[in-house]
Amino acid sequence: MTLFEKILKGDIPSDKVYEDEYSFAFKDISPQAPVHVLVIPKTKARNIEELADLSQEVVNGYLKGIKKTIQTLELAEGYRVVFNTGEWGGQTVDYVHAHILGKRQLSWPPG
Ligand code: AMP
Repeated sequence: MTLFEKILKGDIPSDKVYEDEYSFAFKDISPQAPVHVLVIPKTKARNIEELADLSQEVVNGYLKGIKKTIQTLELAEGYRVVFNTGEWGGQTVDYVHAHILGKRQLSWPPG
C-alpha cells in the first residue's frame, strides 16, 4: 500500500486542509513554499493518465476538490498546481497527487 493510501485510511497522521466525498487535501511534510498542500483523489490512480481513465464522476469530483482546496487556501495572488509524474518528473509516491504551491513568487522554469 502506498503512503498516501495509509494517510487516506488514517493509519498515518496528516494535517488535513480539505476533504469531501472525492478528495482529500493535506499539508506537505516538507513544504517548498509558505503554502504547500497535496490533494489526492479517494479513488486510487497511480498518475494523471490513469486518473483520466476513471469515471467522469471521480475525475470531476477530484478537480472540484482541487478547486475547493485552492479556495480554502486564499491564494488570490496566484499559485501553481504540479503533478510530478514518473522518475524524471520527480514522482516519489505512486498515487496521483496535485501539489498546490503558493504565497511566494514562484520561478520558471522549474528545476
Ligand atoms: P512527489 O515527490 O511529487 O511524489 O511528492 C510527494 C510529496 O509527499 C513530497 O513533496 C513529500 O514531501 C510529501 N510527503 C512525504 N511523506 C509525507 C507525509 N507523511 N505527509 C505529508 N506529505 C508527505
